[in-house]
Amino acid sequence: MKINGPWHKNHIMPKNATFEQRMKWHLAHQKHCACRPIPQKLAEEMKKKGLKFS
Ligand SMILES: [Zn+2]
Repeated sequence: MKINGPWHKNHIMPKNATFEQRMKWHLAHQKHCACRPIPQKLAEEMKKKGLKFS
């Protein structure tokens, strides 16, 4: 897995991130970094809300 260190430094997930914050973080994350996939639970919630992502 390749980690985009500079991106992570500039995009730190808030400790008490809301669903929306996490969702936005992961959508941005997957575009810039491949260190980890979107968590299954989050992905499922996003699908329920009709959001598309790859
Ligand atoms: Zn990453």
